[in-house]
Amino acid sequence: MNKKNIYYQHSGAIGPTAILLSIIFGLIASLFLGIIYGYIIYALPFIYANFIIVGLYGFGVGSAVGIGAKFGKARNEKVLGFIAFLVGILAFYFGWVSWLHAVTEQNVLNVDLVAVFSDLAPSKVFSMATSIAQKGAWGIFGWTPTGFSLYFIWGIEALMIIFLTVIAATVSIDDPFCERCNNWIKQDSDISPFSFIGDIDSYKSSIEKEGAEFVLNAKKQEEAESKFSEYKLFACNNCNSSQMLSVSNVEITLGSDNKEEFTKTEVIKYLLLNKEQFTSLKSPSSSDVIT
Ligand SMILES: [Zn+2]
Repeated sequence: MNKKNIYYQHSGAIGPTAILLSIIFGLIASLFLGIIYGYIIYALPFIYANFIIVGLYGFGVGSAVGIGAKFGKARNEKVLGFIAFLVGILAFYFGWVSWLHAVTEQNVLNVDLVAVFSDLAPSKVFSMATSIAQKGAWGIFGWTPTGFSLYFIWGIEALMIIFLTVIAATVSIDDPFCERCNNWIKQDSDISPFSFIGDIDSYKSSIEKEGAEFVLNAKKQEEAESKFSEYKLFACNNCNSSQMLSVSNVEITLGSDNKEEFTKTEVIKYLLLNKEQFTSLKSPSSSDVIT
């Protein structure tokens, strides 16, 4: 059986609304968060905290792109990823300009808008950056990176922001979509727990061989033990078709502080089901009832 046909895949559709909204949302987030970002990075003297802020910034901008994409019903990760990539470059740039302003002790928040936008001009930004790179801007363990080292660090910062923007944006459109009704499909029900899947590879290859019928053999567990598998059903709530199943293994262990820790491993994602398979999974007893 063709692997492609048994799991849900996005149609790849992406319209002008989705493209426009994801760009606009991304740009607004970059501008607003960018100004805050630059000043926080400047004010926080801890390098590890800076890493977290860089991560939050990229994630924030990417999520904004994703909100626009989801609202615009984008179903194409590649095109959305490319948009997020471009927005990520701009986000780095805005954040960097804001930081340069903070370092050179100009106050971007109080300047009139014309001045702010003239300060965004790359020629001006690069001349500021070169002069800062000569002197260095901050120190760590008694070392003040200048020149190439500082450019290298800025490069890492840029890559982190761009990478996280792309990831956060594309993850936002991970939900399945009903092409017939033109809307996103939400989780219908969680029918867990089922018995833990010891051999994920053979479970998957059985589905590929026997089709979705195979999952009907899954054994229901009375209650969630320390190991079980989680079965989640999805269906379009409008047309009642586009039914699917996602399965994950869940392991509960006791952490050092005696707190329960959940480890989740994805087994299958959005396996397409027909109406009968969906119904018999959702209410297993119904097949035994004689009417
Ligand atoms: Zn539908």
